[in-house]
Amino acid sequence: MSKRPICQRCNRPQKVCLCSAIQPTQHQTLVQVLMHPFELNNAKGTARALCLSLSQGTLWVGETVEELAELKLQLQQGPQPVYLLYPDDNAIMVEQTDQSFAIGQLLVLDGTWRKTLKLLHLHPWISNLPRLGFANPPSGDYQIRKASRDDSLSTLEATAYALEQLEQCNTAPLYQAFDAIKQSQLAHMPAEVQARYGKSRG
Ligand SMILES: [Zn+2]
Repeated sequence: MSKRPICQRCNRPQKVCLCSAIQPTQHQTLVQVLMHPFELNNAKGTARALCLSLSQGTLWVGETVEELAELKLQLQQGPQPVYLLYPDDNAIMVEQTDQSFAIGQLLVLDGTWRKTLKLLHLHPWISNLPRLGFANPPSGDYQIRKASRDDSLSTLEATAYALEQLEQCNTAPLYQAFDAIKQSQLAHMPAEVQARYGKSRG
């Protein structure tokens, strides 16, 4: 195994470091992204780039009670109310919120469907949060990784869409980082795969 130099900020090999493509999106809601530990070394994940691209985004990693104690405290003591971005029959649809809809913190789970369900089962203080969902989400644009959400959006896309709907903020920097991730993934694929995937966006 060769030891490739890793960028300490974006946690990617320096050859495909994303930092030059990252500019923070300005927004109001505190975004807490909880990444399942299985995602930690997943180069195709979008949670880290998401948090680097948010002016008020924090990345948390963990699964156990101990690992999540600090996040729990932050959610309890930070701005209220707290919403969980997760599909649910009783979820408030982000498209249907208006200016009067107040939100202090948004909790976003990053991981496969199975792993995020496990987080909900393990932690009632997460599963009991009121939920925000999507009525008409855009189609996901991340063909490289199998979608971890049933609406096939990456964590970055889902959060960008939620913030757009909640705050009407400019999320262009988020998509800029997203495109940089996709381009670096494509660059490492065989030519015939690139031809198949490369046409969609940008
Ligand atoms: Zn970097």
